[in-house]
This record gives sequence, C-alpha cells and structure tokens, in this order.
Amino acid sequence: EAKANGKDGFEHYSDNVGHMLRRRLQMTSDLSKALKGKELFLDVQPKLNLRDSRAFSVEALARWRHSKLGLIPPDEFIALAEETGQILDLGRQVLTKAMEFIVDWRAAHTSSLSVAVNLSAKQLHDKNLLSDIALIVSHYEVDPSWIEFEITESVVMDNVESSLRLFNALKKMGFRIAIDDFGTGYSSLSYLNKLPIDILKIDRSFIAQLPDNQDDLAIVSAIISMAKSLNIEVVAEGVETEGQYQLLGELGCEQLQGYYFAKPGSLQDYIQKPWSFWQD
Ligand code: C2E
Ligand code: MG
Ligand code: MG
Ligand code: MG
Repeated sequence: EAKANGKDGFEHYSDNVGHMLRRRLQMTSDLSKALKGKELFLDVQPKLNLRDSRAFSVEALARWRHSKLGLIPPDEFIALAEETGQILDLGRQVLTKAMEFIVDWRAAHTSSLSVAVNLSAKQLHDKNLLSDIALIVSHYEVDPSWIEFEITESVVMDNVESSLRLFNALKKMGFRIAIDDFGTGYSSLSYLNKLPIDILKIDRSFIAQLPDNQDDLAIVSAIISMAKSLNIEVVAEGVETEGQYQLLGELGCEQLQGYYFAKPGSLQDYIQKPWSFWQD
C-alpha cells in the first residue's frame, strides 16, 4: 500500500498512527493504575471576592503526577478519561478529595469555604451521578451549599434538556451551579434564563487581551450586565494583570480568578495560609 502512495509518505503516517495508538493504550492503562494508586491529587485555586475578602472560595483542579512522565496536564488526561469512561471513577475521586479538603479546612478554620468541582460531559450523562454525589457528600457530612459544580457552557448547550433536569436536581439537593468557560458556547439568552444557574465564569480568552481589545471589552461588559440583570454571580477567569484587575472592578465584576492573584497550589498550603495565596 505504501508503495502505491508513491514515496513512503503513507508508511511514515501509519508509523505515527501506530505510535499514537500505542501511547494512548499505555496512557489508558497508566491512568487505571493512577486511579488505584496515589498519583492523582488536587490543587486548589482561590477566587477573589472584591466585596468580601473573607469569602473563601476555591476551585479544585485535578492533577496527575505520572511516575515516569511527570506532571501531565488535565486538558490531556481529562480528555482521555472522557473517551475511555474512566472519568466516572476520576470524578468520584475528585469529589471525595474535595470533601476531605473541606473536612481538613473545617478542623482548622471557623469561616466557611466554598469549593468548586468541575463536571464533564460524560458525568452529566451518568445515571448514577446524583446518587454518587449524595453518597460522597453525606459521608463527609458536608453542607451542600459549600459545593459548586462547574459545567462548561458548550456541554450545557449541547444537552439543554438533560442539563436542566440535572441542575434542578442538584439545586434541590442544595448545591450551587456555575457555567464554566462562558462566552465560547454560543448560549442563547432564553436558555440561560431557563436554567437554575448561580454563577457565570467568563472564559479567559475574553480576558486575555483586556484592557486594550475593544471587542473583548464589549463582550465582557455585556456578559457582566446580563448576569447582573438575571441575578447571576459573575466571575472573570484568567486575570493576569493589574490593568485587567482594575478594569474588571470598574465594570462591576466582583469575583476574579487568575494568576495575578493566585496560581493553583496545594491543599495543605491553602489550609495553613489561605491569605498567602493572594500574592506570590
Ligand atoms: P477550567 O475549569 O476552566 O479551569 C481553569 C484553568 O485555567 C485551570 O487550568 C487553571 O490553572 C487555569 N488558569 C487559572 N488562572 C489562570 C491565568 O491567570 N492564566 C492562565 N493562562 N490560566 C489560568 P488546569 O488546571 O490546567 O485545568 C484545565 C481544565 O481541565 C479545566 O479548565 C477543566 O476544564 C479541566 N479539569 C481540571 N480538573 C478537572 C476535574 O477534576 N474534572 C473535570 N471534569 N475537569 C477538570
Ligand atoms: Mg472550572
Ligand atoms: Mg473548563
Ligand atoms: Mg474555565
């Protein structure tokens, strides 16, 4: 076959595919081991509330330290876990670790803490999701109002009916709902209004070129005023500069997350010194 292709371009291509398939198989089996062992852990990244600097709020972010390859980015292993179905197990482990974190926090602090946990598309379709969540959260005796679930906007828009059912059930159980990476998923306003959403997180691609980019400025200020009129909290993701911080404050965005304030860091460090996260 390769010869029929003229040169050996096809052979080369098929070598690459073979290599990719082997790597993928290897990673899938490594991830299975990680799910049974200790290579997976959480970092947390705080969210700053401009109105109330004592409102402690963090996002839990999954991390995988592979024994040979080192730290693998979540964009890579979450996508793999989605494709293989391992995300269901991973999701339960993330929620469990987030509950352990809250228990440790409670032992050390009197102020409350809210923890945001990301949910992926496959989890949304898992018929055991609600019962798994209820089981894990009640086991640790954590108040559901301390927990936010973040779901990416495009996932919600691809599954409006099932999202509506899921969100209503989660709200009934006392959890809060955030739409993640907002602005990239072409939401229609009528859907937004129908869904029981507490928080919109503006995608960092709209923040990155502020304050200079006029188009992004228009989009961001429109999202902020829309969220306000719908009584939804709004968070800007990916705030990296003083200029972005100043501008977002002027636009009335009260919650900010990003490297300018704090990078994701370890649970232990956050419990010991939450305030030191606000500066490097
Ligand atoms: P996300 O939920 O939108 O999380 C925000 C991502 O932006 C995180 O990347 C965070 O480290 C990064 N970030 C925060 N501030 C800044 C900033 O100022 N500048 C820049 N350039 N980046 C910033 P991370 O930790 O690599 O996670 C990537 C994505 O992986 C997450 O995006 C989320 O979609 C997914 N993910 C992570 N943990 C989990 C998990 O436990 N479950 C699921 N389903 N997805 C997860
Ligand atoms: Mg998120
Ligand atoms: Mg996301
Ligand atoms: Mg996001």
